[in-house]
Amino acid sequence: MKIYIFVDMEGISGVSGSDFVTASGAHYQAGRRYYTEEMNVCASACFEAGAKEVIARDGHGAGNHFLWDQVDPRVQIVQGQTGPVRMWGLAGSDALILLGYHAMAGTPGALLEHTYSSATIQNMWLNGRPVGETGIDAAIAADYGVPTILVTGDDFVCREAREWIPGVHTCEVKKACSCQGAMLLPRKAAHDLIREATIAAIRDLKNIKPLAVTKPVTIRREMVERQSTPNAAGRPGLTIIDGRSYEKTAPTAEQAFFV
Ligand SMILES: [Zn+2]
Repeated sequence: MKIYIFVDMEGISGVSGSDFVTASGAHYQAGRRYYTEEMNVCASACFEAGAKEVIARDGHGAGNHFLWDQVDPRVQIVQGQTGPVRMWGLAGSDALILLGYHAMAGTPGALLEHTYSSATIQNMWLNGRPVGETGIDAAIAADYGVPTILVTGDDFVCREAREWIPGVHTCEVKKACSCQGAMLLPRKAAHDLIREATIAAIRDLKNIKPLAVTKPVTIRREMVERQSTPNAAGRPGLTIIDGRSYEKTAPTAEQAFFV
């Protein structure tokens, strides 16, 4: 059994604001430690539940945040840029875990809510439905026939995950108090919960189907800034909607995602 863990930072336990997830932030080094530690806890639970191979994608920002010398030696990690491939090495995986996720841009009250980039993207839609990273990443995994079995983070992303993915397991390690504040579970309790949720999700794997997505897939973006739409000339499937919005229609979610 092969499990793929896509790791983001905002929903990691112990993280309660921007200062933990931006390289210039006062708590960034602590954030990296919590991030690496929680990935290790989840990966270790995957092995405990029978996985023979675990790949962890360092998925926050530019993808260079794991403390490499502290990564569980059984885990293969993917870092940095991977071109138009969202989850490098996903093919052949039995399941995907979205670890440390956050709610979609504009979710009132959610911790560090955004969709891929708070600086550039205002909103996204998948086949006409407002969507965040959880929905799009589950759709991309479904391109490869891989089910998303567990989503972890604050109470808002857990709710979003259940709305998007039938049968998905969720693991709430904190409750958002605002975009920049959270009530955190104690460290051990959070890690115990991640371990238990991972094992439960893997035991239930056969009952969770890859996300059903109607083909072709259309992903629409509304940008924060005007004049930030790409040039549609020579790009099949790309349609400019207005000065701030565009969409791409393609045979797969991954192709619709990468413009
Ligand atoms: Zn992130």
